[in-house]
Amino acid sequence: MSLIVQKFGGSSVGSVEKIETIADKLAGFRDAGHRLVVVVSAMGGETNRLLALAHQIQDSPVPRELDVLVSTGEQVSAALLSMALNRRGFPAKSYNGSQVRILTDNAHTKARIMDIDVRRLHAELDAGNILVVTGFQGVDEQGNITTLGRGGSDTTAVALAAALKADECQIYTDVDGVYTTDPRLVDGARRLDNITFEEMLEMASLGSKVLQNRAVEFAGKYNVPLRVLHSFEDGPGTLIRTEEASDMEAPTIAGIAFTRDEAKITVLGVPDTPGVAHRILGPVGGVGIEVDVIVQNVAEDKSTDFTFTVHRNDMNRAAAIVTQVAGELNARDVRTDDRIAKISLVGVGMRSHAGVASQMFAALAEVGINIQMITTSEIKISVVINEKFLELAVRSLHSAFELEQEPTLLADGRN
Ligand code: ASP
Ligand code: MG
Repeated sequence: MSLIVQKFGGSSVGSVEKIETIADKLAGFRDAGHRLVVVVSAMGGETNRLLALAHQIQDSPVPRELDVLVSTGEQVSAALLSMALNRRGFPAKSYNGSQVRILTDNAHTKARIMDIDVRRLHAELDAGNILVVTGFQGVDEQGNITTLGRGGSDTTAVALAAALKADECQIYTDVDGVYTTDPRLVDGARRLDNITFEEMLEMASLGSKVLQNRAVEFAGKYNVPLRVLHSFEDGPGTLIRTEEASDMEAPTIAGIAFTRDEAKITVLGVPDTPGVAHRILGPVGGVGIEVDVIVQNVAEDKSTDFTFTVHRNDMNRAAAIVTQVAGELNARDVRTDDRIAKISLVGVGMRSHAGVASQMFAALAEVGINIQMITTSEIKISVVINEKFLELAVRSLHSAFELEQEPTLLADGRN
């Protein structure tokens, strides 16, 4: 008999009909003998509705009151789901964050979980109850209601699974798993059976947003097997788990992530002297702008072109700062370009396979795509290209690395 924590997002509990469907599904799990802790989000759209109400009264309400307000959304769906289970003859009880005692710090609207008291939950499970816990919320030392930040129910589910030492944490959502790349872009995109925490973090931060990143990090840290599944369709979903020995021999690339969120800033003709990178990027970081890819190259005449990317929304602010520094450095010019895209190959298998980068560059060259910037890490290679070639690039790479095909080499590898 396994203990499973299952999280249902806002679209899965968006109406009474959907809540009834989820209750049927849970009844099936219970009949199969599983012990269940269910974490729910507010009914779809409810958190936004509550925030809009608040903003009709005040532009910036105090965070403490916002938390009291928005935490009600989850309480509604938890109670309704418990009722639906009870009506089916399954003893179920809803718990809110402070009833469980999900203890957080006091950073209202972005609180962090510090401790979860699992005694009561274990006693309820032992008594045969299905537990329905409100996602997204906790309580601070003083008893104030806190919330964990938008999308925080994923984190609640993972934290509960870790504290309860659950066998698996299942996140039910509106997609049936994690794909090799965005299926809207590439017809042959394939659902992965497995992916590692590390790969998932790279895929998510690069644009394949299925799970809250913080929840994935948390799951990795406590080694909670995390599965993404479709709420209303049957299927195995994608299991996100720690790296296994067999992954070393698994296909090198797990997937292709991409983002159109970045913009490029180039400072032309800066002197090649110590401290230049710091003089350019120091003030940019100083105002809280995050810099991603950086490229610097010295020409024969000892002058340097210095290029970096930032989030598109930060481009103008960063360019203004850099233009001032460029003046002080006697640089030739500052140029910006917001029509770029970043594409990344992600895979832990890269650690043990050489030649991935050259295969990637060859595939892009074959379709005439110019690479503007390159950056690599142990399990990722990213290139920046002109945005208009994004689709072509992702499709070409997807087929160059044969990601549409089920790998058949190893029965127990990534498949
Ligand atoms: N209801 C909250 C939100 O919309 C938390 C969640 O859905 O995870 O952000
Ligand atoms: Mg969500």
